[in-house]
Amino acid sequence: MKRTNTCGELRKSDLGKEVCLQGWVRFSRDHGGVAFIDLADRYGITQIVFDPADLPSETDASRISDVMKKFTRESAVSVNGVVRERVEGTADARNPTGEIEVLISDAEILGRSKIPPFEVGDQKEGVLPNEDVRMKYRYLDLRRTEMIEAITIRSRFMHLARQYLESKDFLEVETPILARSTPEGARDFIVPSRVHSGTFYALPQSPQLFKQMLMVGSIDRYYQFARCFRDEDSRKDRQPEFTQLDMEMSFIEEKDIQDVIEGLISFVWDGLYGKKLEVPFPRIGYTEAMERFGSDKPDMRYGLEFVKLTDVVKDVPYEIFQRIMKSGGIVAGINVSAELSGGKIGRNDIDRYINYAKKVGLGGLTWMKIQDGVPTSNITKYFTPEILEGIKNEMKAEEGDILFLVAGPWKSTYEGGGALRKKIAEDLDLVPKDVFQFFWLVDCPMFEVDPVSGKYDAFHHPFVKPLGDIDGKACGGACFDICLNGNELGSGSLRINDPEIQKAVFRKLGKSDEDIEEEFGFFVEALSYGAPPHGGIAIGVDRFITIILGKETIRDVIAFPKNKKAVSLLDNSPAKVPEDKLEELQIMTLSIDDLDFETVEESEEE
Ligand code: ASP
Repeated sequence: MKRTNTCGELRKSDLGKEVCLQGWVRFSRDHGGVAFIDLADRYGITQIVFDPADLPSETDASRISDVMKKFTRESAVSVNGVVRERVEGTADARNPTGEIEVLISDAEILGRSKIPPFEVGDQKEGVLPNEDVRMKYRYLDLRRTEMIEAITIRSRFMHLARQYLESKDFLEVETPILARSTPEGARDFIVPSRVHSGTFYALPQSPQLFKQMLMVGSIDRYYQFARCFRDEDSRKDRQPEFTQLDMEMSFIEEKDIQDVIEGLISFVWDGLYGKKLEVPFPRIGYTEAMERFGSDKPDMRYGLEFVKLTDVVKDVPYEIFQRIMKSGGIVAGINVSAELSGGKIGRNDIDRYINYAKKVGLGGLTWMKIQDGVPTSNITKYFTPEILEGIKNEMKAEEGDILFLVAGPWKSTYEGGGALRKKIAEDLDLVPKDVFQFFWLVDCPMFEVDPVSGKYDAFHHPFVKPLGDIDGKACGGACFDICLNGNELGSGSLRINDPEIQKAVFRKLGKSDEDIEEEFGFFVEALSYGAPPHGGIAIGVDRFITIILGKETIRDVIAFPKNKKAVSLLDNSPAKVPEDKLEELQIMTLSIDDLDFETVEESEEE
């Protein structure tokens, strides 16, 4: 290689060395005929200097000067020169190469750049161009230090995970991208078959069925960095295609899967940060998580826990609560203590939270402030003094504390309450930074029942092993989630390995025997050839990297993401397909003129 060093490599110990650096012209400035250039690559930035007076002849100087006139910003260039110490007082302590510079003896342009649409150098906060511009010119965006760091950590993570799993006898196996639908709760992306017109493949929402069939096939420890495709609205932590570290094991119990993940994450953590993580990770049951934190992936780094009040207010004359409790709903409260808020929550803030509560699906929000020892607000007249005293005691409320009460059906009320809890914590700056709290969510239900239609839905997916009678009340499932700082990193479970139970679960989910045969006949059959007890898990790689790097969205850790409207602005996909190609596939489309890819509106809500 002509390049002798990277732009992040040279130090004072290299003084006097003849080097060749190749990289991009980040900034250049001219001081009376002497040019200073910041030459950048993914490893760092080195200052290079063109000083005509230091070159052997004028001819050399003018030849190099002519070449360097083409050194526009972000051009790829090559320079030869000698490493020398920077003039006293000009060293840059923030840059590891900041004590030296390279005095140019020769220069070559390798790839000239047009004027870049935005400045690639490290941006001060708020100066970054809008995300769509960065997406459109992602190759330029990738040159930014922040992006290089994300891509590097991602690669390190994948490498370390592979190293760990291979050491534990896991085999990496690829599973098909063109396949039959795998139900993970989203819509499928479908791909037409040319050979069998009128039929379609589905892109996998996950490799679930294939990894289970690998277990039937005796590959008792499998993993894969699997690309998954789910057609759902994009959000900060989702986009149409994403990567999972997918795993499956045979002859195991729940704890064996959790042990492997704890071992893996600790190994990765040590490799990335040189720090030990405390294992085992704590466990919290689903019901407890919902009732204390209003979430099945609670952020437990701060308090603001819910307190159940249904018993305390059961005889309250307040009609709204009575109606809710009679139809099986709950009343719960959260105490925003004066100590936490510094007494900063005023009437306007309360109104803001009432509006927010409506936005997150709560019917309303009841509030009280402890004044002169008593819960006080415009509705306390509907409460008896004993009940008010009961609320105050149950919520351990003190003078000046604000109590927010939520009421309604169990699930939606706790979920809405959880969103409110998060909002309050963010407003009051209660969320600690740089604390990583892993935990397992356990004791999950097998099904969820739609309160309106009464229809059963799988809590995770239909392949989870039920714990007990599936027709019994509140049947549990052998499934669990791993969570980090209020995010679900991944889900896992023990699976059904008995074909009859698998069919029974499908029936419970409303499938007829014909549907089962048509959609999953092949899979049920596979289970009937000595399927071992097995289970597995999948960890969202994009999400994991996003959280550990403290990024806003998973788009920041994916080299070529789709934008908020599921569009790749770089290659303008999805795109129209020429008529003849569609004819070949025997597909007719309605007109899709006037596609407006640039207009972005996204629900960033969870
Ligand atoms: N297939 C599941 C998912 O994608 C994970 C698992 O159960 O292994 O969420």
